[in-house]
Amino acid sequence: MFDKVLIANRGEIALRVLRACKEMGIPTVAVHSTADADAMHVRLADESVCIGPPPAAESYLNMPRLLAACEITGADAVHPGYGFLSENARFAEILEEHSITFIGPTSEHIRIMGDKIEAKSTARRLGIPVVPGSDGAIADEVQASRVAKEMGFPVLVKAAAGGGGRGMKVARTAQDLDMALKTARAEAKAAFGDDSVYLEKYLERPRHIEVQVFGDGKGNAVYLGERDCSLQRRHQKVMEEAPSPALNAEGRKKIGTTVAKAMQKIRYRGAGTVEFLYEDGEFYFIEMNTRLQVEHPVTEMITGLDLVIEQIRIASGAPLTLSQDEITLSGHAIECRINAENPKTFRPSPGSITYWHPPGGLGVRVDSGAYQGYRIPPYYDSLIGKLIVHGKNRNECLMRLKRCLSEFVVEGIETTIPLFADLVQQPDIANGVYDIHWLEKYLQKP
Ligand code: ADP
Repeated sequence: MFDKVLIANRGEIALRVLRACKEMGIPTVAVHSTADADAMHVRLADESVCIGPPPAAESYLNMPRLLAACEITGADAVHPGYGFLSENARFAEILEEHSITFIGPTSEHIRIMGDKIEAKSTARRLGIPVVPGSDGAIADEVQASRVAKEMGFPVLVKAAAGGGGRGMKVARTAQDLDMALKTARAEAKAAFGDDSVYLEKYLERPRHIEVQVFGDGKGNAVYLGERDCSLQRRHQKVMEEAPSPALNAEGRKKIGTTVAKAMQKIRYRGAGTVEFLYEDGEFYFIEMNTRLQVEHPVTEMITGLDLVIEQIRIASGAPLTLSQDEITLSGHAIECRINAENPKTFRPSPGSITYWHPPGGLGVRVDSGAYQGYRIPPYYDSLIGKLIVHGKNRNECLMRLKRCLSEFVVEGIETTIPLFADLVQQPDIANGVYDIHWLEKYLQKP
């Protein structure tokens, strides 16, 4: 096992990883920018290193500084969390070159899956059903228009290097296509420094269903059920649940087995999420994330497994402890992403938390680095915590969630808690009938 784990992240996920390390008896190193000196992950870690000024490029994304922090503290493994360098193949490679373990897959797997075009062709090769689209990057307008006509409109122009819902534009008709190509390319260039784009059939009313997988890098892999992340705003997840209200045991087993087999074939190591759109009973692969996801707790709540502990064990060379038949799903879990934002305009609301009273009780989990008196810095993502609720069934889970949202008090800043309080009252949410466009439509209503 590792002597010391450095956590190359901040906020709730840094705390999440730290908690797993503590329970395994592994000493931890927190890193932080000058803006995060008072953060909870820094307070609770065994050691901490300031790695630079507030901009992420000069701190959390700065590889030389992270390496120096490992050297100074003697950390022999790095957990990247999600975001920042978690899907940076070069970072994984550099760590390995310095004999420091990257808690995640091989740099090769990160590279293959990080490029969405390559990921799709890999998925196809592995027998995973893929959303129809161009075979590779689109060279020019002429090719785009030919491919779009073959597929039929509407089509979606997507950035090969895409992430966070950026660099994605819908073209409903042939007339829209040139504009969609130009804007997607410009957005992709600005966000990722790479303007390659590809085309996909635009699905009108799919759900977003993703399969959680775990491999040991030795050819064993299992799936831990699915998560339904269809409630989205601007292609970003807002609320997630497990299991999906749209799948039955047979459908779950079918897609789970397909994905686990694919991961066995490539000898995938660590945690991964294979994302699909699901429409009319069919799955369409869109991408794979080679890291822990924000919404991993809903899977933990229904499986009783600690995914971070599993990640650390596997990274240290241990085999998978569980076989597929030992993984049982029990009850239902829902996660709400609590952002420091105005719940109507979604304008960020950084500042000081003057009062913080999280809910509690049976089946309730709050993952957050926030506390009374904490000052949310304006430089980073607005996610300040996650409320995760588990119940014996979906109905109990929803009733518990309602109760928790009414108990949760945060003062001094605005949060998205009131949005969730509204959402749990909606019949469509109660009935589990919503697709990826449901929330946008709901928010547009006067
Ligand atoms: P990112 O990596 O930027 O998050 P994804 O490919 O994972 O991009 O897609 C994010 C979301 O965008 C999906 O969950 C879905 O809501 C929407 N989306 C992606 N591809 C399609 C498609 N072909 N048709 C309709 N919606 C899509």
